[in-house]
Amino acid sequence: MIDEKFVQSQKKLIEQKISELTNEISQARQYDDLGNSDEDKTQEYEELEGKNAISRSAQKELEDLKCALERIDEGKYGICAQCGQLIETGRLKGYLGVIYCSTHARQS
Ligand SMILES: [Zn+2]
Repeated sequence: MIDEKFVQSQKKLIEQKISELTNEISQARQYDDLGNSDEDKTQEYEELEGKNAISRSAQKELEDLKCALERIDEGKYGICAQCGQLIETGRLKGYLGVIYCSTHARQS
């Protein structure tokens, strides 16, 4: 059985990370709205591309974290969604949104 204290500390970190990512994404969206000037189109485009890339990976991480949060509420955090085995603590610490063991991570 996974340590409840560990789960609760992970939950705090996840909630914190979710609000950080939400901010990051909304800032990236604001930037998108500003990108309508005709000057410096190329440079602006490159910056936008960079911002969009950040936004996309942030979006993905946000989904993972929300999923992990749901699993905490269901009492399934730290358990592989595929095979039901305990996920290594090191993996959970390395990436908060992980819901698969190392065997099934690549298939997700
Ligand atoms: Zn698994």
